Amino acid sequence: MTSAGSAIRVALPLPIRQTFTYALPDATPVPDPGVRVRVPFGERALTGVVMPGEPDPAPGAPREILEVLDAEPVCPPELLATAERVARRCFAATGEVLRSALPARLPATGAIRYRITERGALAGSASVGPAERSILEMLAAGETRRVVELPGDGAVRRDALRSLEERGFVRAVSTGREAARRVELAYETKVPAGEDRDARIARSRRGRDVLEHLDALGRPATAAEIREATGAGPAVLKRLTELGLLRRFEQDRREIPAPARGVPSPHPATEAQAAAIDRIAAAIRDRRFFPALLQGVTGSGKTEVYLRAIRLALDAGRGAVWLVPEIALTPVFARELSRQFGPLAAVLHSALSDRERADAWDRVRRGEARAVIGPRSAAFAPVADPGLFVVDEEQDASYKQRESPRYDARDVVALRAKENGAALILGSATPSMEAWHAAEAGRLERLVLPERIAGRPLPEVRIVDLRRQPARPDEKGVPLFSAALLERLEEVFARGEQAILLQPRRGFAPFLLCRECGEDFGCRRCSVSRTVHEKGRRLVCHYCGERSPAPLRCPECGGGVLEAVGAGTERVAERFSERFPGVPCAVLDRDTARRRGGADAVVDAVRTGAVQCLIGTQMVAKGHDFPNVTAVGVLSADTLLNFPDFRAAEKTFQLLAQVAGRSGRGDARGTVHVQTFHPEHPAIRRAAVHDVDGFARAELEFRRAFFYPPFAELAAILVSSADRDRAEAAAAQVGKGLRGGPEGLRISGPAPAPLERLQGKWRFQILLRAADRRLLLAALEAAVPERPPAQVQIAVDVDPQDLM
Ligand SMILES: [Zn+2]
Ligand SMILES: [Zn+2]
Repeated sequence: MTSAGSAIRVALPLPIRQTFTYALPDATPVPDPGVRVRVPFGERALTGVVMPGEPDPAPGAPREILEVLDAEPVCPPELLATAERVARRCFAATGEVLRSALPARLPATGAIRYRITERGALAGSASVGPAERSILEMLAAGETRRVVELPGDGAVRRDALRSLEERGFVRAVSTGREAARRVELAYETKVPAGEDRDARIARSRRGRDVLEHLDALGRPATAAEIREATGAGPAVLKRLTELGLLRRFEQDRREIPAPARGVPSPHPATEAQAAAIDRIAAAIRDRRFFPALLQGVTGSGKTEVYLRAIRLALDAGRGAVWLVPEIALTPVFARELSRQFGPLAAVLHSALSDRERADAWDRVRRGEARAVIGPRSAAFAPVADPGLFVVDEEQDASYKQRESPRYDARDVVALRAKENGAALILGSATPSMEAWHAAEAGRLERLVLPERIAGRPLPEVRIVDLRRQPARPDEKGVPLFSAALLERLEEVFARGEQAILLQPRRGFAPFLLCRECGEDFGCRRCSVSRTVHEKGRRLVCHYCGERSPAPLRCPECGGGVLEAVGAGTERVAERFSERFPGVPCAVLDRDTARRRGGADAVVDAVRTGAVQCLIGTQMVAKGHDFPNVTAVGVLSADTLLNFPDFRAAEKTFQLLAQVAGRSGRGDARGTVHVQTFHPEHPAIRRAAVHDVDGFARAELEFRRAFFYPPFAELAAILVSSADRDRAEAAAAQVGKGLRGGPEGLRISGPAPAPLERLQGKWRFQILLRAADRRLLLAALEAAVPERPPAQVQIAVDVDPQDLM
């Protein structure tokens, strides 16, 4: 029998919104909150996380845990509390939030091995306390030891290890394999910077990056460090070594110096940057929650403000988390962070292997790295005493997770910033309506960077009315390139400058049509048409992935006139090459990015000038800095505008402003041509004159009038099933529950979702709106069953970013 005192509260990765109570076997010390345990659940064994607080009284005797997995917590108490609050706010289970937060396959913290350093071996016994001394004595023989093998236990051992590590007396080697490898390869430059060296590296940009990084570092670096900082792999290092530019040698791990800092930014701050930094500095120093909106057009130097603020946080002995959207250019910022902060920087991006992610997480948790950059999931980085959270491009929809748990990283860092007395910097050229409204209401302090660096003017935007453009006979009244755009492109290419063309759809054409019977070859499992790929040879459903060769004759009527209607990036590239045969172009979209190194290779080719025209989807709009691009063409601004979503105008405005920011980043003034059938639409008109505030005011009037966010809290309830009747009945049941719920709710539906069928399932949607989050959650709690009826799924998305 277990006594009540030895029960613990455990969060499990299950879609059940509660924690579970387990008993500890006799003589098992109570594990700290944040330690992982194996527990029986039904017939299965699951890994859960011990939570702080009193366990709920369980009906009957609780089952015993199977095993304690960690010697010390995998995440700090502050993160556990955040996970619980996030789970509540997004109507999800704490265990699921923690599963999203923690890297998959994080090794047990008990498995981390420690080794004594030379400094530790030389340390006099008088300089350490008794707990520390007994650890040093055990390690003195030179072997590595696991945490659990070291003397002492629980908090005492943990504190002793931390203090020894901070003073450089012991080092953690996180895994067995690394511990076994005592030496590793390091590189240093052999030839000083100068003409001779430049001549030898010729056109290799990567090669130059590596040498410049080592110059700036002023010490040798390992291959892994170089890769993290510059992105250069073994092939580049091998080549530089062969060219006699690098020296390669083996060094003992223990001798690797750990400089406290990398190199600071070479750019002086502008007046506006300095003013913003002063405000942030005061908040970090005073440990005061300071939420701010850093508003500035692209090219106004927001990144410089982030980097300086991160330095301030580190100088104050605190940590920093920098979130970036999930896009191909994360490595650019990661490199800069590494360059400036050396080993204090950690990258947690999605392209890392499980092992690399686990290693990075561990370095952060142990306090070795204190400046973290990454996409959404990095919001949970276990940085101790965070003093700064940065959300770059805060309007980006990728901060919201689309599958359960549907948390919003912006929400996570806001909670953490408040909890830790930290600065929260939301950066954007085109703020979300939520952020803009919060700044107007005084809940966010507005920090403005008014102009582009070096006073570069914003590009000139021309709206092209597609209704007045003659179309080619095969274009069905929808011309691809307007006369004005073609004229501008000729001029740009003749001058040796570059252009970007944005077409929001990938593939060859949006759909295939039988001219005789109108069959459109839609997906059999989803209520959408399938996209034509490979110049018409293949049909692909972008929602479920179903693909098949395109038919040669219509299977419905036998007709032989099948036509690919409209244009995706692939067809735009084909048309472009017909029109500008001598101008090299490349496509950047999800198809090209998916190939390993694909996006990087395309971006590099544009940067070196090998590609003169970049054609792509929304991906071309984000962040890239190509100084020689002087013309941007938006081939169809209407694709996003026509989405059945209350954010359609906001997203269109943001996309146009972003892509416009790609033009004229060098010395020449840029132009942007926006082709549209809705030249009068406010999103397009305001984007053309770079009027962020004017657009926001008009859009917020619409949101207020129709009771949409940020004036309402919104939840989308999606009920789906392979059986249409079951889905409809279950949706009706939830709707009935909501209508009997508290006052002050606005309920729309149930109605078929805009995407009525997806992957073979029928989908019904209910939209629920309330004046505040508490009321919304209470209504959901009352009406959404914890276990849905048989063969039915119910998904709740609080504050959804899209309503398909
Ligand atoms: Zn047909
Ligand atoms: Zn499909």
